[in-house]
Amino acid sequence: MKNFDSFDLHPALVDSLRRMNYAAPTPVQAQAIPPALQGRDIMGSAQTGTGKTAAFAIPLVQTLLSNSRGSALVLTPTRELGKQIMDIMTQLLGKGTPIKTAFLIGGESMGGQLKQLRNRPRLIVGTPGRINDHLERGNLRLRDTSFLVLDEADRMLDMGFSVQIDRIVKCITCSRQTLMFSATLPRKIIQMSERYLDNPERISVGSTTSPVKDIQQEVMKVSQDQKYPALLEQIGARQGSIIVFSKTKYGTEKLAKKLSREGHAVEAIHGDLRQNRRERVIREFRDKKYRILVATDIVARGLDIPHIEHVINYDLPQCPEDYIHRIGRTARAGAKGASLCLIVPQDMGKWRAIEELLNPGRKPSSSAAARGDRRPGKRKKKSKAQRGKQRFHRSSSAQQAAAI
Ligand code: AMP
Repeated sequence: MKNFDSFDLHPALVDSLRRMNYAAPTPVQAQAIPPALQGRDIMGSAQTGTGKTAAFAIPLVQTLLSNSRGSALVLTPTRELGKQIMDIMTQLLGKGTPIKTAFLIGGESMGGQLKQLRNRPRLIVGTPGRINDHLERGNLRLRDTSFLVLDEADRMLDMGFSVQIDRIVKCITCSRQTLMFSATLPRKIIQMSERYLDNPERISVGSTTSPVKDIQQEVMKVSQDQKYPALLEQIGARQGSIIVFSKTKYGTEKLAKKLSREGHAVEAIHGDLRQNRRERVIREFRDKKYRILVATDIVARGLDIPHIEHVINYDLPQCPEDYIHRIGRTARAGAKGASLCLIVPQDMGKWRAIEELLNPGRKPSSSAAARGDRRPGKRKKKSKAQRGKQRFHRSSSAQQAAAI
């Protein structure tokens, strides 16, 4: 597929793609757009950074432009992702479009959102909690919604949105078209797709258990006392923008303050910040007003800032899959990037679970092998890595929701 011409898109959409410098579809777009334009449901697994947003946004905007009635709803787990989706949608709709939109996310005033809803929007992007809130208050009806997107479905379930999503989907006609994307495909996502999708086209781009190429991954084993000095040294040795991931909201604030006292240009982001502050922090990072963003996993997925060159995992993620999402913040759209993990002894179990995810069945590089943690001859006994991973999974959702 060389360019977008073969899709026979609405002229306004063709214009927008030209203005956005989207010359040719990315692989996920080449796979998803044709069946979506034919009205098929889609179950897509694709990593962020692959052009996933436009893979659903282009058919959605085409549907809105080619019909004078009907509306579309996009559900997304976080405000930041929602904003990125809204930005792409606005660019695709183009300036002067008659199609009204509403952006319904938590943490923003109801008043402004009510105003958007009174304009009879044909495109709504938002987080499940706030959309459900509007439905319950009678501010929002989804009777004419015929196009539904569930983006980062696995993340929405991890964040505990499944009840809200169910309530929302029940308000939408069964004859809708539904596009669902998920970075991972655990059982609960397959079950969800069976509930919400009708004979979907399955699309998979790249492995969702392996990071994008072009990321140089490094690991440093350090003692607890060496951890912060090692971070300082690594920041000093690197050039360009850096995201440092920390485990907790408090840890994020504390680390950002410490780095700031060392003279670094740094900000923190986590789920306790007010929405306008979160937006400012992201905007200024995007504009290179400061160099280091210390973050919880709230920005691990989807954040698309092309100039991020380094991801430093000061703390390892609660859930192994989040390692892939975190380091995917660098090496966006073909650029190169580097990632570093600082691993303290008590985090070795977590690290082995990550290694097992990246290289299933392969001998771990850690000293665990020397201690005989893995027993290749005894197949029935689970490796420590597997046991660690399981422990992880069991506790991860609840811990994570509270932490980020
Ligand atoms: P996403 O995976 O949706 O976060 O997209 C990653 C980046 O790729 C974003 O900066 C998009 O603007 C960019 N992108 C998406 N599709 C295309 C395309 N067909 N051509 C060029 N850039 C694109």
